[in-house]
Amino acid sequence: MVTTRTPLIAGNWKMNLDHLQAIAFVQKLAWSLKDAKHDSSTVDTVVFPPFTDLRSVQTLLDADGLELGLGAQDLSPHDSGARTGDVSGAFLAKLSVTHVLVGHSERRADHGEDDAVVARKVAAAHRHGLVPVLCVGETADDLERHGASAVPVAQLRAGLAEVPADAEIVVAYEPVWAIGSGRAATAEQAQTVCAALREALVELVGPDRAAATRILYGGSVKASNVASFLREPDVDGALVGGASLDVEEFASIVRFQHHVGT
Ligand code: PEP
Repeated sequence: MVTTRTPLIAGNWKMNLDHLQAIAFVQKLAWSLKDAKHDSSTVDTVVFPPFTDLRSVQTLLDADGLELGLGAQDLSPHDSGARTGDVSGAFLAKLSVTHVLVGHSERRADHGEDDAVVARKVAAAHRHGLVPVLCVGETADDLERHGASAVPVAQLRAGLAEVPADAEIVVAYEPVWAIGSGRAATAEQAQTVCAALREALVELVGPDRAAATRILYGGSVKASNVASFLREPDVDGALVGGASLDVEEFASIVRFQHHVGT
C-alpha cells in the first residue's frame, strides 16, 4: 500500500504574542500566503498560540475563512473540576482547536511532566476529538549516553500507553539540544530517528496506522533548512518555534515546496 502523507507545518508560538498581536500576525500571514499563491491543498499549516489568544484567532479564522488550523500548546489530563489553572480539552474543542501539543520538552523540564502525565494528556486529547502532537526527543546527555533514538522511542511507547491503536496522532521528534539553539540536527540525523519512530509505530499501532501517521522534525527549523528535512522519507513536516514568530520567515517555511535546490 502506498500512503501519501500531507506535510504539516506547525508554528509553536510559546509564550509570545498577546491576543491583539496574534490577530495582526494571523492577518499578515494569511495575506503573505495568499500573495504567494500558496496552494493549501499540498500542505497543512497549524498555529499554536497561547491559550489567551485562541478565542480571538478562532474568530478571525471563522470570519475570514482562512485555511489555517488552530492548535493549543497544552491541555489538562482531566476533563473538568477543581483543577486551578488547568484547561480542559473539552473547552479547546469548543473553540475549534484541532491539535494540541503534548509533552513538549519545555513542559517536561519546567513543569515536571513525566511520561505517565504525558500519556494521560494524549488520552484526554483523544477523548475530546483533538489530535495530540506528541513531542519526543533526547537531551544532549541522553544522546551521549544512549544514542539518538532510544529516548524518543521510549517516550513514544509511553505516550501512547492509554490510547487505542486507531487514535489519530502526530509525532514531533525534537532533539532537546536543537531547540532554540540555532543548531539544527542534520537531515540525516532527523531521518534516522524518525525512521526508528515509525518502526516503533508499526509495532504499537500496526503498519497501516504507522504509514499514515505524520512525524515532524523540530529544532531550529528555518526557511533555509526546512526543505532538506522534508526531503527525507520519514519526515512529514516541521514543528517550528522561534522562526514561527516572523511572518515572512514562517510563510517561507510553509512554502518549502518552492525552495528548489536548498
Ligand atoms: C520548539 O520549541 O518546538 C522548537 C522547535 O523551537 P525552535 O524552532 O525555536 O528551535
